[in-house]
Amino acid sequence: MADAAEVDRTVERARAAFASWRATAPGDRARLLRRFARVVDDHAEELARLEIANAGHTVGNARWEAGNVRDVLDFYAGAPERHHGAQIPVPGGVDVTFHEPLGVVGVIVPWNFPMVIMMWGVAPALAAGNAVIVKPAEWTPLTALRLAELALEAGLPEGVLQILPGAGEVAGARLVEHPNVPKIVFTGSTEVGRLIGATAAARVKRVTLELGGKSANIVFADADLDRAVTSAPMAVFDNSGQDCCARSRLLVQREIYDDFLERLAAAVREVRVGDPLDPETQMGPLVSAEHLARVASFAGPGLTPYAQGACPQGRGYWYAPTVLAAPPGFDPLDSSDASAFRRAYEEEIFGPVVTVVPFDGEGRAVRLANATPYGLSGSIWTRDVGRALRVARAVEAGNLSVNSHSSVRYWTPFGGFKQSGLGRELGPDALAAFTETKNVFIATE
Ligand code: NAD
Repeated sequence: MADAAEVDRTVERARAAFASWRATAPGDRARLLRRFARVVDDHAEELARLEIANAGHTVGNARWEAGNVRDVLDFYAGAPERHHGAQIPVPGGVDVTFHEPLGVVGVIVPWNFPMVIMMWGVAPALAAGNAVIVKPAEWTPLTALRLAELALEAGLPEGVLQILPGAGEVAGARLVEHPNVPKIVFTGSTEVGRLIGATAAARVKRVTLELGGKSANIVFADADLDRAVTSAPMAVFDNSGQDCCARSRLLVQREIYDDFLERLAAAVREVRVGDPLDPETQMGPLVSAEHLARVASFAGPGLTPYAQGACPQGRGYWYAPTVLAAPPGFDPLDSSDASAFRRAYEEEIFGPVVTVVPFDGEGRAVRLANATPYGLSGSIWTRDVGRALRVARAVEAGNLSVNSHSSVRYWTPFGGFKQSGLGRELGPDALAAFTETKNVFIATE
């Protein structure tokens, strides 16, 4: 657990490494990142096992995550040689732009998808020529530490990628206020993101913020209901609901509401919760006892679940997949309502709990979807292509899917509207968040 002095020493090492890393030829930087991807691939099973042991992810998810780390490295290994500026016509000379690396980039990571979220920041930052310091979450530092060892094994120079395990309020905070760390990528809660944004603002420090979510899954009566119902549980319960993109507000058109709820309950009872190492398992435990207590507090006294799946009893941080249906007369837009259901419907639970609410028409569905400070992701289920596009354009969120629940592809942009974040990660433009554009005019007369 690094203290502030250790952060300062780490930043000094990173600054020294940055000087030679930015000067490394683009083709050599690309080759090293490609080799890093290959070494990760060779150790994919080991990394997956480490995440299962540390965070309780299911084996299917953990393998996907290790593969995603490899793919993100591979994708951004293609960037250094293509990272060109522009040549802009001007009178009396030549005008060109350069994308200059920023220097030392701090990447502060949450515990829910440790290695994946780390690499979304690390790979493009390295490709752009920066040195990187990763501050993993207190509970889940193991894959980050192993990945830095693998980077060295792949030939990345010492100091280019360093891991700094430590407390958020100590190591994380020092990284954010450090004068020689010009950029912070923070993924975590909106509450901490606000603090980091304020500290960064005082220094005009660049930030990318990936924060919380309370995303809507909107099901219209004309949708393919079989697919909408069977896919709805894992759109919330994947990674035990510890997913910023979890579709935890299920909005269902009134004429199909009762039927949908009944079928949803049956689908939720089918979710296989158990040993993360069993390939048949769909949902594992929560990350910690502390987090389990927080999740349980939402569906506590005063609320009877409409339906609940099964989960192992005894040792482990188990919480059964839970459906909470709106009580009769519930008005999602009535802010004076202080009921337990409303709290579950509005706040990010970050656990396997879905709230279900009926709506009457397309306009109302959009209003309900947008009545939240968050805006990360969401799904729209309808067979009407015009409606799909109208609603997708009207919902204030960064990552939407129609007749699907996918949110993240490493080659498409990812990030939040409103209080779900600032800036975008992944996709073809990710390097822009790790560079400054410099304009140079050269007189020819
Ligand atoms: P968190 O905000 O508690 O912590 C995230 C990281 O910030 C940790 O490494 C922590 O040590 C550090 N930190 C805490 N206080 C700090 C401070 N004062 N200064 C600097 N760093 C500090 O979040 P968490 O509980 O680890 O993760 C869950 C949250 O992350 C949820 O809200 C979830 O929605 C969000 N999340 C968002 C995305 C996204 O891409 N939008 C992805 C995953 C998770």
